[in-house]
Amino acid sequence: MASLFENTLKRVWEAAKHLDLNPTVLEKLKLALEMTHARLSIRMDDGSIKSFPAWRCRYDDSRGPTKGGIRFHHQVTVDEVEALALMMTIKCALMDLPLGGAKGGVKVDPRGLSNTELERLARAFIRALAHVIGPDRDIPAPDVGTNETTMAWMTDEYSTIVGKKTPEVITGKPVALGGSLGRDDATARGAYYIMRYKADAPGLKHGAQVVAIQGFGNAGQHIAKLLAADGCRIVAVSDSKGAVYAPAGLNIGELLAAKLDGGSVTSMAGSPGVTLISGDALLAVECEILVLAALENMVHKGNAGSIKAGVIVELANGPITPEADEILEAMNIVILPHILANAGGVTVSFYELVQNRQGEQWTLDEVHARLKTTMEKQADAVWAHAQDKNITLRTAAYLLRSRGLPQLWRRFLRTEVRPPALHLQRHPAQR
Ligand code: NAD
Repeated sequence: MASLFENTLKRVWEAAKHLDLNPTVLEKLKLALEMTHARLSIRMDDGSIKSFPAWRCRYDDSRGPTKGGIRFHHQVTVDEVEALALMMTIKCALMDLPLGGAKGGVKVDPRGLSNTELERLARAFIRALAHVIGPDRDIPAPDVGTNETTMAWMTDEYSTIVGKKTPEVITGKPVALGGSLGRDDATARGAYYIMRYKADAPGLKHGAQVVAIQGFGNAGQHIAKLLAADGCRIVAVSDSKGAVYAPAGLNIGELLAAKLDGGSVTSMAGSPGVTLISGDALLAVECEILVLAALENMVHKGNAGSIKAGVIVELANGPITPEADEILEAMNIVILPHILANAGGVTVSFYELVQNRQGEQWTLDEVHARLKTTMEKQADAVWAHAQDKNITLRTAAYLLRSRGLPQLWRRFLRTEVRPPALHLQRHPAQR
């Protein structure tokens, strides 16, 4: 099977076929700007020392400082980090944010570490990579296996190293430490706004209510809450331990309680009307909307054909392989591509950055209103482009990115030198 990075590049290439692009632009996009490898050695609670491999990839900084989450997961690889950094580059461009793309990863199972060990690991990551990150250079955020507490430790460590409070070096912080209101559910909320705004678009099945959700972490839990509050019936949910299915609808409050303290949704099995099913069986349940909110490559050519939903919402990054994409397209399934559908997270991260720089705290209503406007505007652009060129929403989303690129690249290609040190440009919305 092709690697995630190869699959991601393939999509960029596919989209580029619809544009008259200078081949040098694509040549440059083949490689990350910078990949830093580090070894994080920390003292465990029993006094022993353990080492964990870590990476930070800054893929492209043409638009501004690079931005991307840090993942703690036992299967993280350098390939995955590079692919996710490329996806972030495209996502930031699609959302017209003055940011480039990056990603970080530590190969560790965070569930096997105590809280104090996790704190030492988070701080070790920053000590090892403080020379790479910085408010004008590279700004991390949470991802799979990390959360606002991890970001608080990391911000504190960076501030200690540089000798001054620097909240703007990281987003996704707790609100009390400079985080933005509305960042916690921003990823899911961004997708939710698009789903509602585009409910009447061809293929989106206005009034669709029956939903299955793969992955029940930050993104999955918040989309479940938003859709259930909107009257949807969530019939199946999964996490890394398995899936539960209830044709009459699952109780979201009970599912959330089951996830507390490292629990699993599978503990709901046996409750009235709830049965345990396999992760792959979740894909095949009768539903109208399938939300993918777990990890990449979860839908592949081996299981794509079993999907019954008419609409797939990609909250996870790269959850569908290109081969599966072709199968789903032939089945006329509409896919809300991840670089648009989950971009609410980085968009509110950008709002957090702006608030930190301006010393402001926006109200929740203000954050929601800005996010809604941005998601709807970008969704309109993607839909219009798809219709205009008769291409999928995914290809249209990748293409929109390319529109602004040639000028940027032309500027750099003329001199063939890296652009000078970049400072955060003011976003048009701030002017
Ligand atoms: P998370 O760690 O909070 O949750 C991940 C969930 O996926 C967990 O419930 C886990 O049990 C589940 N999972 C893992 N393996 C699985 C499997 N084989 N089958 C079913 N479920 C499985 O992570 P998250 O922050 O919710 O991120 C989920 C996805 O969304 C990732 O691809 C991430 O990159 C993407 N994303 C997240 C954000 C954000 O703001 N959190 C923003 C953009 C994109």
